[in-house]
Parts: sequence; structure tokens; C-alpha cells
Amino acid sequence: MRPVEITVEVYSSASKTQPCPLTATSAPRVTAGLPDFSFHEAGIMTYTTTVLVIGGGATGTGIARDLALRGIDVTLAERNGLSSGATSRSHGLLHSGARYAEADRIGAEECIAENQVLRSIAGHCIRDTGGLFVQLPGDDADYFDEKRAACAEIGIETRLLTAAEAQDQVPGLSDRVERAMWVPDGVVYPSRLSAANAADAEAHGGTIYPHAPLEDLVVENGRVVKAILGGEVNDTVVPRIVVNATGAWAETVAAMAGVKVEMAPSRGVMISVEYDGLGPALNRCRDPEDGDIVVPHAGEVVLGTTSVPVTDPDNYEKADWEIEKSIRECAQMLPAVADAPVVRTWWGVRPLYAPDEAKGDRRGISRGFFVLNHANDGVDNFFSIVGGKLTTYRQMAEAVADQVSAQLGIDAACTTATRPLPGADDPDQLDAFVARYDAQGPTDADVVRASTPVKA
Ligand SMILES: Cc1cc2nc3c(=O)[nH]c(=O)nc-3n(C[C@H](O)[C@H](O)[C@H](O)COP(=O)(O)OP(=O)(O)OC[C@H]3O[C@@H](n4cnc5c(N)ncnc54)[C@H](O)[C@@H]3O)c2cc1C
Repeated sequence: MRPVEITVEVYSSASKTQPCPLTATSAPRVTAGLPDFSFHEAGIMTYTTTVLVIGGGATGTGIARDLALRGIDVTLAERNGLSSGATSRSHGLLHSGARYAEADRIGAEECIAENQVLRSIAGHCIRDTGGLFVQLPGDDADYFDEKRAACAEIGIETRLLTAAEAQDQVPGLSDRVERAMWVPDGVVYPSRLSAANAADAEAHGGTIYPHAPLEDLVVENGRVVKAILGGEVNDTVVPRIVVNATGAWAETVAAMAGVKVEMAPSRGVMISVEYDGLGPALNRCRDPEDGDIVVPHAGEVVLGTTSVPVTDPDNYEKADWEIEKSIRECAQMLPAVADAPVVRTWWGVRPLYAPDEAKGDRRGISRGFFVLNHANDGVDNFFSIVGGKLTTYRQMAEAVADQVSAQLGIDAACTTATRPLPGADDPDQLDAFVARYDAQGPTDADVVRASTPVKA
């Protein structure tokens, strides 16, 4: 079957100075019975794709990679540079699942499974630092024990440390720590992760468009028949299936197809401060609160975060109290950060899905994910993926790709859990991917050198 072709030329961020074809293919693709053609409609060049993924965060790029590896023709459109949403505005903790173990078993099970997968496929997109849950005076000792027991049930390895052992292993840790437990947390560099997924999707015939916002969806007879892309693409796409992977914006995008997806987004602040030599990630062992987590980078630590409901993920307050409280609370665990020079501060918006719950600080909403097949809402070829974590992006992508493949009648297994990401063992190559897709975000701005020239 002939791959989709297009004759117009656009400038993509993959090559900001050179025109590149809208669709490039490097592997045979399955177009699942869709006619492969380019045509003019009312003077506008229109092209087809089997699956159009909207949103270029970890989830969207993960879906594009998964589908492309199954041989399915996929196009991804992101309104900004890749990973400009929550993905590269997150805290960047590779969760072991311990944070959720006692309250959200499914979310915790997903985290530990993917934590282990990413250790084997993601190379320099992550760093194995380990993590500590620390108990301070006033923290509920029963909560500590419950968490540890829940971790054991789920299969999350823990190791109990006395206060002296914890202080010995983590210089700078507060001398008020009463005890601690080691967990297999780590650090994610999300710009690299998204860019590497996108690069693998392209290497297997997918097409990635940064700076291509979805402006509208046209629904006829219970199917999305057209997607209007603006920005650097400025074109109409005829998709066989559309996947809405727009995180906190999922409600807005679903509404373009006349479908209701009830999101309950919440914002959080992160502050990166100068600090040398923190080994493990630090977690306060208490019911999730503001300023509970310190994530180690070389020469910096990332403090955070808060959880405040927002109604518009593009337009929300960024309050000083969130910064002050996060620093103050994190300093309970690592006192020197109280006065450390601030390197950068950023906010992100969590893509929480809660059709029945939009009240409170939204910390209690599950960090599990949901694949919504909108055939149930009267639109047959439209899916949304909502909720989840950066840590579980690959599993989320697999769940979507399974459903999309089934709908297309394609029997192809997921291979993303065992296949290393391209460039995983080469930080320069990963950073070149970040530059290629304009994927740099604040979470790992100190780690990634996105100005690295793109390798051929
Ligand atoms: C403060 C905070 C801290 C967090 N910390 C962690 C952590 O430590 N560990 C962890 O595992 N998870 C963490 N998370 C959660 C994690 O960041 C998210 O669950 C995950 O990154 C979501 O990825 P996504 O691809 O689904 O969404 P996003 O990364 O938000 O991607 C959605 C994309 O859709 C794009 N988009 C929107 N509208 C359109 C349109 N019309 N056309 C085209 N594109 C569009 C957006 O620009 C965006 O890039 C945190 C989140 C926040 C907010």
C-alpha cells in the first residue's frame, strides 16, 4: 500500500530553515483500508492519515510511537513545541508508586510497573536516584506503617532506615527526621522522553507536527470527518480515527467534536534552587500536602508542589504563597534550601479527570488513567485519554493503541515496553531530538542542552 503523500511544503520545527514535506515515510504503514490520496478541496490541499493524535506531551508522543511501531500510519499535531504542557512543566519524579500506595492502589501499581519498564528502555531520559520517604515530628507514625505495608502488598520494594542511617546516607537531611524508608523513585527528564518518543514515531513512518494547533473538528453522521490544523501546518486533515491526548485541554478539544469530557485540572508550582549533592528524591511521609517532594538534579534541587483547582489551563493565577510555602515545607526535610538561590520557578496544570468531583484541592482524585471511547457519546472514531502520570505515559499510550488497533481491525502487538528509545544511551542524541521538536521545558532545562545541533 502506498504511503500518504502530500505535495505542499511547510516549514516545520524539525527544520526551521528548510522546507520539508508534510508527510514523510520511512517504513511501510498500514492505512487500514483508508484511501491513500491527496486532493484539493475548495482550493485547500487536504491529506489523509489513519490516526491523528492531538497533543504532543508524553502521552501523545507515546501513542504516536506505539502506533507507528505497530505499522499504523499516524500523524501527531501539537499546538506549541512538543511537551509544552504538563509534561515538561512537571516535578519530574519517576514515581515508584509509594506516594499513592495506601490510597490509590491502581495508580500505584501502574507507577511501579512503568518505573521498571522505563529503567530498561529510557536510558538518559531518566536517572536512577532512589527515593526516601521521611517522617518528621508530628507526622503520623501509623501513616508511615500503612504506606510501607501497602507498598509490600503491591510489590514496591522498601527498606526501613533509622534516623541515623538516613542522615548518614543523605548529608544535609534534617536532624529532626525520625525515620525513613527507601523506595525505588527516580528522576525523569521529560523533554528528552517526549522527543525520543516522537523521533521513534517518525523513524517508523509517523509524522510529527509541532506548532500545529487543532482549531476545529468537523463531525458528520457520528464521525469526525475533518480536523482543521492551524499554525505551521495550516491544513485540513482527513483522519480515520482521532485521539485526543491534550491533557488538561482535553475538555476543550472534545467539545470541538460535541463531546463532553469533564476535567478537574489543578495547578502546581515548582522551584529549582541551587543545591549540590542530594542523592535520592525526598518525599514527606504524610497525607499529600503542599511542598512534599524534593527532586535531585546535578547542582540543583526541584522543590514543590501545590495543588490548586483551575478553570482555564491557559489562564490561571500564579500565587506567591505557593512558592513561599513549597520552599518552607521542603526546607523541613532539607534545611539548606530555605536560603538557597532560586534558579527558576514554573507552574504546570495536572490533567485530572473527575466527572463527579470538581471540589477540594483535587489531591484525592485518582492518578490512574482513563481511555474514553466516544462511540459511547455518539462519535464513533474519537478517543480521549485523560488522567495518569508522566511516569505511566507508556502504559497509557499502550492502552489507547490497543483500542485504536482493535477498531482498525489490526492485530499488532505493542512493543514499546521492551524496545529501547532511540538515543537512550546517548544524551547528545536525545538533546538533538529535543532541539528538533522544540521540546525544551523548564523541568529539565538545567540538564538538557537543546541547542545541540541536530544530528543527521
Ligand atoms: C505541578 C505538576 C507536577 C507533576 N509532577 C509529576 C511527577 O513528578 N511525576 C509524574 O509522573 N507526573 C507528574 N505530573 C503529572 C504529569 O506531568 C502529567 O500527568 C503528564 O505529563 C501529562 O502528559 P500528557 O501528555 O497527557 O499532557 P500534556 O503534557 O499536558 O500534553 C498535552 C498537550 O496537548 C497540547 N494541546 C492542547 N490543546 C491543543 C490543541 N488544540 N491542538 C494541539 N495541541 C494541543 C498542549 O500544548 C500539550 O502539549 C505533574 C503534573 C503537574 C502539573
